[in-house]
Amino acid sequence: MEVFFILFPKFGTIGNDEGAQCVKLQDIVSMTDHVFLQSEIEKCILQLSPDLSVQTLQKKVKSVNLLLKAPLYLASSQDRTLVIEMFASFARKIIPYRKITFSLWNDSAETLELLFNHGFTSQQVSLLKARVPFSHWGAEFAKPLLIKKSSVSNHSIFQTLGIEEAAVIPATWQGKVQAIWQLFATRPNTFTMEDLQLFWTLTMQCEIIFQHLSKREQIQKQAIIDALTGLYNRRYFDRQLKVEIDRAHRQKSTLSLLMIDIDNFKKFNDLYSHQAGDNALREMGRLLPENARTVDTVCRYGGEEFTIILPNTDHIKAFLIGERLRKAMEEHPFSINHSKTVNMTLSLGIASYPEVANSDNDLVRKADMAMYEAKRLGKNKVVLYSPQLEGAKEQEELDKGINLNSIDFFMEAMRSLADARKLMHSLLNILLPNLNTEQSLYMEIDRETQQITLLTNQPTNHSHADDCCLHLPLSPKLQESLSHLQTRGYLSTEIKQQLMVSIPNGPTYPWNHVYCHPCQCDHASNAFLLLFLGGEYTLLREGSTQLSKHLDEAVELISQGLKVQQQQRSFYRLAARKLITLSETHLPYYQHHSNRVSSLLAGFTKQLELASDVTRTLADTAYFYDLGLMSISNDILLKNTPLTYSEREICQRHPLISWEIARFSPKSIELDKSAILHHHEAYDGSGYPHQLSGSSIPITARILALVDSYTAMTSPRPYRKAKNSEQAIKEISTLAGIRFDPILTDEFCRFVKNGVIICS
Ligand code: GH3
Ligand code: MG
Ligand code: MG
Repeated sequence: MEVFFILFPKFGTIGNDEGAQCVKLQDIVSMTDHVFLQSEIEKCILQLSPDLSVQTLQKKVKSVNLLLKAPLYLASSQDRTLVIEMFASFARKIIPYRKITFSLWNDSAETLELLFNHGFTSQQVSLLKARVPFSHWGAEFAKPLLIKKSSVSNHSIFQTLGIEEAAVIPATWQGKVQAIWQLFATRPNTFTMEDLQLFWTLTMQCEIIFQHLSKREQIQKQAIIDALTGLYNRRYFDRQLKVEIDRAHRQKSTLSLLMIDIDNFKKFNDLYSHQAGDNALREMGRLLPENARTVDTVCRYGGEEFTIILPNTDHIKAFLIGERLRKAMEEHPFSINHSKTVNMTLSLGIASYPEVANSDNDLVRKADMAMYEAKRLGKNKVVLYSPQLEGAKEQEELDKGINLNSIDFFMEAMRSLADARKLMHSLLNILLPNLNTEQSLYMEIDRETQQITLLTNQPTNHSHADDCCLHLPLSPKLQESLSHLQTRGYLSTEIKQQLMVSIPNGPTYPWNHVYCHPCQCDHASNAFLLLFLGGEYTLLREGSTQLSKHLDEAVELISQGLKVQQQQRSFYRLAARKLITLSETHLPYYQHHSNRVSSLLAGFTKQLELASDVTRTLADTAYFYDLGLMSISNDILLKNTPLTYSEREICQRHPLISWEIARFSPKSIELDKSAILHHHEAYDGSGYPHQLSGSSIPITARILALVDSYTAMTSPRPYRKAKNSEQAIKEISTLAGIRFDPILTDEFCRFVKNGVIICS
């Protein structure tokens, strides 16, 4: 154990009483003549200690002077680090230390944290950071200590730090040691008792300031935090947005702002109480930062409105972050009570600096405008600011008859219809798990040709709730089982009874029996529900009439649902075509564009021998992929001079808007959303919106790019005449490997030259 000297607590000439006197003097010093007071004190000391030498006296005068001045200086500082530094430099005037440390108690880490050091090498500092030697003594004794190298048996720490003496001075407030000063001397017998006395007295002055500073920090923190949600408040947001904009300006980077508003929150309050509303806002305080990045600043802007500052984020990235938030919110269950949860949605607006806004106020105004557009478009949406949103422009667009309203109408129409196939799958999901089936298929039979069309295909053993509208390709084993059934005549309009068919190659499949349930209509079967069964199928074998009845009803419902779905599909195709036609009448140069693209795509994908569902999906996609053009003003679309930078930016937004529309298409009309989003990407990576290149561009997007460009080239535009097929193909060939996929370009040129084009 180390031996050390305790030189206190007995005080010398300036003890507790004198210390108290100094505080009082310090209080009045701001009001009275400082110099006068100083001389009064000097007199006082002379009277108190008549036997002092001149040298000691001078030192005392200096010390008292410091005691008077230091608190005044220190109290004027707003910053903790500055107070510590000033304090250390004051102390140096009277105490000849060479090195110094200051550690503060950190409540949350429950340890003393080194905040300041002077006079040490970097190696010594890392040692001090791990643990300042002797400080634990200070904390334990709560009194000043003087520890001399000569008085301890183990010198290693003295040698490592290059010191001879250490003075440990604890600072106590609120009843416990909160900080430790340590002064170090490099020569023996440097520190005197009086030095330590003075320092301790000085520290007491400092304590008051520290207490004051920590209270102020607390208040400052409270002033920027919203009490309900724990997020930053509006005041902080205003300040931080300025800071981030300045930073973006300096670093020439982009910054985006998300403006977020809870949809129908008033109704939520009315329905479930204001208290439930408060709880939901609290939950938002957790949900938003969880779905943002650490660099983002999430704030409660007021009421049920929030903002997120996204540094280094352009509008596309911001859109994707906004989408992530929108989706997270949509899926988040808000608890109302123990048994009830409710879902809520958000409307989000985005503006970016310097892309569309040039100042903090401008950014807020534009993000807000985009947010209101999201509300206007039906809520639960993310909308990017665009100049068209400005009131005057909007009016102009309205006058022209084509504006965002048409998109709104279309999306509403899409949302309002349920998805029949989803319904059927839910039904089957309820019925099938009890039957130990591996797979179920539902197929229609054409009465005349006996041709079978597969309508749904559902693996029932795994939960595919999300993918329930996906057409899974038939596995070879399934295909084999199916042809077995067909060749044996089990799948024919003649079959009117439920059958259990054993599959000879059973053991190699997960099933060994198939239960065929015909759906009868006008005394003939025109559809079958097939259940592929594993080892146990007792329920079915016993011919449970109850189950049969349920299956009968299910099959009936499915077949009705499918009919509705077929009608829906044609309805959507029709609606999409009508909408496109409507927009094309306003854009004469685009007339019949989608029709042409659709038929070209059908032909080209056939030549490429793509699967029939890909071909069908792409043919439908042709009617949707350019719907985003409707958001662009005719002034830009029909301009016959080169576009400005910002006009080009507006145009380049259209794949994103088309993609957003496609997202709302019902599942019954399958669209290739990635082809829509990426149909303007270029093979060399110079396209938009995501600058994908080569094979990272989805193949259907590469196909659509070729067909779209060819169609555009062979149509007239305000700024040029239509090219003929030969000229267009020549131009497309020169862009192989730059704009287009080289292999697909070869194929496409061959396709066009072969004259397979149906419509031109
Ligand atoms: P919209 O979809 O158009 O945004 O409709 P809304 O009802 O969400 O918006 P509106 O601006 O009409 O109403 C906002 C509501 O938010 C009204 C107010 O009672 C509620 N609200 C605002 N601050 C608080 C709060 O701190 N606690 C609770 N419980 N409700 C709040
Ligand atoms: Mg609101
Ligand atoms: Mg709201």
